[in-house]
Amino acid sequence: MPSFTITPMVLVIPVLFAMIFLELLISYFKGIKVYRLQDTVTSINTGLLSQFVNSTGAIISVFMYSAIEQRFGTFEWSVESPFTWAFSLLFYDFLYYWVHRTGHEVNIFWAAHITHHSSEEFNISTAMRQASTGFYFKWVFYIPLAVLGIPLQVFIVVGLVDLLYQVWVHTQLVGRLGWLEKFLVTPSNHRVHHGQNDYCIDKNYGGIFSVWDQLFGTFAIEREEEPIVYGIRKPLNSWNPVWGNLHYYHLIVKGVKNQDSFSKKLMCIFGEPAWQGEDMPSYKSESPSVESYKKFATSPPRWVNLSGLLTTLLSATVLIFFLGTKGNMSVFIQTLWVAIAILMVFSAGALWSSSRWYRAE
Ligand SMILES: [Zn+2]
Ligand SMILES: [Zn+2]
Repeated sequence: MPSFTITPMVLVIPVLFAMIFLELLISYFKGIKVYRLQDTVTSINTGLLSQFVNSTGAIISVFMYSAIEQRFGTFEWSVESPFTWAFSLLFYDFLYYWVHRTGHEVNIFWAAHITHHSSEEFNISTAMRQASTGFYFKWVFYIPLAVLGIPLQVFIVVGLVDLLYQVWVHTQLVGRLGWLEKFLVTPSNHRVHHGQNDYCIDKNYGGIFSVWDQLFGTFAIEREEEPIVYGIRKPLNSWNPVWGNLHYYHLIVKGVKNQDSFSKKLMCIFGEPAWQGEDMPSYKSESPSVESYKKFATSPPRWVNLSGLLTTLLSATVLIFFLGTKGNMSVFIQTLWVAIAILMVFSAGALWSSSRWYRAE
């Protein structure tokens, strides 16, 4: 029997499921509908997929970070000092702001981050809808931490704290939080970030602290008089997590092929998503309203819904087993597991999409 290592994520996954269940229960008793089965399962499967891929992909970040830190690290930091942790978390969050902002304002990076925004619901499960493809570029933004000599283990822990802090802000059940909003990212602050109303686009990029948005002019306050429409201007229209991760890359490739000049081709890759070229989605459409907005919905038979739900629970169990034992596996076997995971969530998504494997239209 292979030895099992309890990693932070092994503990976090059941907690996330418990939080989703709790939010579902509270919203049910409050009479507010914030969950839809297919959306939730798609969000969770997207999160499981990203954990499978990133647990292997993170090797790149760890390798690059420690190589740069060892070669160029300028200062000595004591891991025992609270100052090291406080400074690192603050600086990490500042750099996260720029990672996140770039993820929204440059097409090729938006192709990765759009996955997180593709849900038309907003709840704790949305927090799990994380991209599988961002790992290849994100580490570059954190090079300043390595150059300052912040130890690798501090970088990993503050990164995890920053990520986990963001789970609770994905909820509609917590209202405005007064003075806290001046410093911290709160549910209200993050609801705006997930909105596709005009006033929400490219706002509130903060991870833990909302001060960066206030400093750099991207701060917006939730408007009570204008209910938020969640999601993206060109809807994903799919329950398939694999397609959810790839659809915008597909659009970029199509866009590049169809532009008539080299500069326009470059804009498809490095321009803003708001830039409109041939075959690139229009983000300049009118601001949607809750009354008229039609969310993506399909109505598969009950057995399909049930099998989707079971696949998710099975995938989560397999992921916990994988994370706990991957230390004993060769990279080849790990890659094989990742391939199986991709196949599993892919099949669940394909099952729900009635006529085409990746999207149901
Ligand atoms: Zn975002
Ligand atoms: Zn979010």
